[in-house]
Amino acid sequence: MAKSMISKSVAGISPSATESTSFLANQMKRQGIDIISFAQGEPDFDTPDHIKKAAIKALEEGFTKYTDVPGIPELRKAVVDKLRRENGVQYEDSQILIANGGKQALYEVFRTICEEEDEVLIPTPCYVSYAEQIKLTGAKPLFFETKEENNFRPTLEEVQESYNPKVKAFIINSPNNPTGSVFKEDQLKKIATFLINRGVYLITDEVYEHLIYEGRKHISVASLGEKEKEMSITVNSVSKTYAMTGWRVGYAAGPKDIIQGMINLQGHATGNINSIAQKATVEALNGTQEPVQKMLQEYARRRKYMVEKLNQIKGIHCQFPDGAFYAFPNVSGLYGKKYDENVIDDDLSVARFFLEKAHVAVVPGIAFNYPDYVRFVFAKSMDEINEGLNRIEKEIELLY
Ligand code: PLP
Repeated sequence: MAKSMISKSVAGISPSATESTSFLANQMKRQGIDIISFAQGEPDFDTPDHIKKAAIKALEEGFTKYTDVPGIPELRKAVVDKLRRENGVQYEDSQILIANGGKQALYEVFRTICEEEDEVLIPTPCYVSYAEQIKLTGAKPLFFETKEENNFRPTLEEVQESYNPKVKAFIINSPNNPTGSVFKEDQLKKIATFLINRGVYLITDEVYEHLIYEGRKHISVASLGEKEKEMSITVNSVSKTYAMTGWRVGYAAGPKDIIQGMINLQGHATGNINSIAQKATVEALNGTQEPVQKMLQEYARRRKYMVEKLNQIKGIHCQFPDGAFYAFPNVSGLYGKKYDENVIDDDLSVARFFLEKAHVAVVPGIAFNYPDYVRFVFAKSMDEINEGLNRIEKEIELLY
């Protein structure tokens, strides 16, 4: 029998569920069907002009060669300045790595610190790529469920119950994708202290830090004290904040030896990230932050509109998210309903019902290890939100 062409580790990962939903929606679009997609987690805004201009300037000046693997010095410095100014944490330039998006930075963290027997503790619902990236290193993702009545915030008790000595790292994602949940400082401190005392690293994914509503405050765990800083690796990116998803710029900050390991890994895997995108990111971080505020105001309007409207639809119940640009309603109220020959009996079938009947794409909660919910993106125009939710409401009315 021929040997399998695919390695065990790659055979063990599943395709990104958010991407496959978008893929299906795009396929229907190509068939001429008018799909409204709330599936893709990215801003609908264009990258602000002053950032694009910095890229054009770099290109015109011929800034088109390889750069230092961990990033150009002015960008590493801009990240150091940003982390001090906005997050209250002081790093040296050598503690910063510029990667191809937060995604690559995360993968490199796991690859650098995880051994085969290790476990990485992840509160759910969680971002789709953590578990698969961890599995690729040979380590094991260890999930525990947060509860809606706690606003999806992990509690110390849940962490204590889930902890075992194999746990090497804990993932903090605040604001969270898909719930928007934001950690409170006292809770973060307690959980961090419990874990640090057991030698557990804190991997903190802060890509939504600026998208936060109603006076909530983002706290970087690394800013809570020297020990917290020594034991945490902060991952961030310009994708969501600056509407720069396609530019692929992210970064990591952390202990020197870990960052150096990640640099060595990246040096052989991809090398430096795109030189022009690095120049654009210097401008994003150092230049005016006015466009960010404008986008935030618009997201706040859409958040209110979407969540209020979702709560008016039969069978759907939705909390207001503290941050990010996702609504994550419970849809189990629709279970047992029938359409055509189908019975709605889980979040996947709800997503299928929305797509087939209302031509609206959402991501089922199972993609985030949290069934009975679906994720809607509100980084969409008000018209699309209105039309998409009207379609869903109309189709649901027909079920009753
Ligand atoms: N972390 C979270 C929680 C995300 O939602 C995403 C993107 O959706 C990423 C990281 C990666 O984003 P990027 O690679 O574009 O920086």
